[in-house]
Amino acid sequence: MNSPFLEIVQKVLTGEGKSLSQEDQKLLLRDSESTVALSINEKEVLSFVNELLFRNFFDNVKAGHYYCDLAKINEYHDESQENRLGGIKEGMLYQLFVTYYTFKIKILDWGKQIGDDTVKKVFLDEIVSGIETELAACFFPTPGSVNFSPMMRLVSIKSKLENYAPGIIFDEIFEVIIPCSKCKAKLRLYAYKGLGRATCPNCKQSFVFNPMETLQLKVVADMCEIWKNRRDLLDKNAETIWNEERDALEREMRESGFDQYMH
Ligand SMILES: [Zn+2]
Repeated sequence: MNSPFLEIVQKVLTGEGKSLSQEDQKLLLRDSESTVALSINEKEVLSFVNELLFRNFFDNVKAGHYYCDLAKINEYHDESQENRLGGIKEGMLYQLFVTYYTFKIKILDWGKQIGDDTVKKVFLDEIVSGIETELAACFFPTPGSVNFSPMMRLVSIKSKLENYAPGIIFDEIFEVIIPCSKCKAKLRLYAYKGLGRATCPNCKQSFVFNPMETLQLKVVADMCEIWKNRRDLLDKNAETIWNEERDALEREMRESGFDQYMH
C-alpha cells in the first residue's frame, strides 16, 4: 500500500522535471524509530521533502486545490466549511481553511488505512504530521500541546509565507470574498483590517464589515488585534520576537513539567 503523501512528493517532483531515487523512497518509508543513525545526506533529503510538502500546501492554497473531497469536512466535523467560516465561501482565507482541513483529513484517513496502533510510523508520516501540527499552531490553533502566543503565530506565519509561499503576500491570507447584500457583486475584503465601513464599488451601497462577527475565528480576532499595532516591530525584529516567545514558551513548559514529553 502506497502512502498518498509519497504520491504527492513524486507528482511535485515530476512537475519540476525531477524524480525520487529508489534510495530516497526507501528512506522516506523507513521506520522512524529505527536506531540506525541518519547520514548528513539522508537528513538533507528529509528536510528537502519537508520543504517540498510545505510548498505544495501553499501552492494548493493559492490555486484553490484541496487534498480530498470537500464533503469529507462535513463528514469529520458535522459541519460544512462554509458554516465553520460564518458563511464565507470564497477568498484566500477560505482556501487556506479548506486546504488545511482536507490535508488533516487525508492524514487521518491514511492513519485509518494503515491502522495507527499496529504499524510504526515511517519518516514520511513524521514529516507530514509535523507539517500539520505547525500549520495548526499558526493558523487554526486548538487547545492542546502546541500553543503559540498570537505574536509567535504571526511571526511563524510570516516566515512560512516567506519560505514556502512566494506567491502569497501576508495581507492576502486574510482575504475574504462576500457578495454585496444589495447587488450581489463580489466584494474583496480583508479580515485583518478589523471592523470597518466599506462601499460596494458596483452599487455604491455602504455597509459595516465586522470580520470577528462574520468569521467567528479566534485566530482572526487575535491577529486583527496584534496586527494593528505591531506591523513595524514585526517587519524589523521577527527573529528577536520569535526567540523571545520561544524562550517564554519553553520556560512555561518546563515549569508545568510538560517538557518531559518533549525532546
Ligand atoms: Zn453592491
